[in-house]
Amino acid sequence: MRKGLNTICVHSGEVEDKVYKGAISPMYLSTAYAYDGLETSIYPRYFNSPNQHMLAKKVAELEHAESALIFGSGMAAITTAMLSILKSGDHVILQNQIYGGTRNFIIEEFEQYGIHYDFLDVNNLADLKSALKPETKLIYIETPSNPLLEITDITCVTQFAKENNVLTMADNTFASPINQRPIDLGVDIVIHSATKYLGGHSDITAGAVASSKEIMTKVFSKAKNFGGSLADQTVWLLERSMKTLNLRVTQQNINAQDMAEYLENSEYVDHVYYPGLKSHPQHELAKIQMQGFGGMLSFDLNDKCDVQKFFDGLKLIKNVLSLGGVESTVLSPEKTSHSLLTPEERKAQGIKSNLVRFSVGIEDTKDLKRDLQMAFSSSL
Ligand SMILES: *Cc1c(COP(=O)(O)O)cnc(C)c1O
Repeated sequence: MRKGLNTICVHSGEVEDKVYKGAISPMYLSTAYAYDGLETSIYPRYFNSPNQHMLAKKVAELEHAESALIFGSGMAAITTAMLSILKSGDHVILQNQIYGGTRNFIIEEFEQYGIHYDFLDVNNLADLKSALKPETKLIYIETPSNPLLEITDITCVTQFAKENNVLTMADNTFASPINQRPIDLGVDIVIHSATKYLGGHSDITAGAVASSKEIMTKVFSKAKNFGGSLADQTVWLLERSMKTLNLRVTQQNINAQDMAEYLENSEYVDHVYYPGLKSHPQHELAKIQMQGFGGMLSFDLNDKCDVQKFFDGLKLIKNVLSLGGVESTVLSPEKTSHSLLTPEERKAQGIKSNLVRFSVGIEDTKDLKRDLQMAFSSSL
């Protein structure tokens, strides 16, 4: 029987303190260990230091995966995982709306490797069918998506992929393994920017890949060549942070639902994008494939509000890049995460200049509402 989420968060992946019997994991900072043969010797860039090895177990258990690896950033995890699967001549299908850094990686790097790709609406089976080629090796998805919280039908995509012998990879950063376990829905490889919810305190940059033992063997052989492992001090800090992952995310789910309903009723807001709202076009799908709707939402400010004045009017909620911390943050996708898209591309994706992305923290929502109310008033 599986342990409960809080028990896994607290205890799974602990490094046992055999010498002093302390309650928490000791931090092993050695970069030099006794030689024990090339395959089994410990070396941090082999992703096998005691702290890395144990934290990977915690992530694998949370994601219902056989195995996992911890990386120096989300992008190190994504790039290494993709290049473990793909080689020159291969073709990838990617969801239209994905994290900007991942999109840049594809557009700026794939050509020199001779890897072909198509961005499309992966919820559209007809589009998937017509994009499929004999060389297609991978379908890449991210759900809920950034910044409009669109939901990809994971089961539908993985069924199509399995029928056609194609692997699937899902970026599970926005949901976190508390709210969504893509492997249970047929996904082959799950990746995370642990900089976000897994770290949760806006003080760690890290990433993770989780999959079957067979696929992780391939990922590992690329990972040690590319060298994107995470320093053990940070691995230790990430393990400490993840002890409260379920508590934090559970509170963020509650807070985001409350804030989404508040914003939906606000005269200063035109539209709220949150999968937990009945008005979200894929609310029913989200209910099926997610255990919680997450801490991320977006909203269109009404045109009587000035976007910059709104941001300037916030006192408690910070206008910063990144997301998933215990503190609430907002940003303008147009000015930050999606600034590299052309205005036409942003328009095609439905990203307006009055769109605000809101990462809801664990604060008391009455204080968050008061802060928003003041910012709305000062934005008129
Ligand atoms: C931040 C983020 C990434 C990239 O992670 P880094 O840790 O910044 O390298 C990838 N995917 C999503 C959805 C993200 O939010």
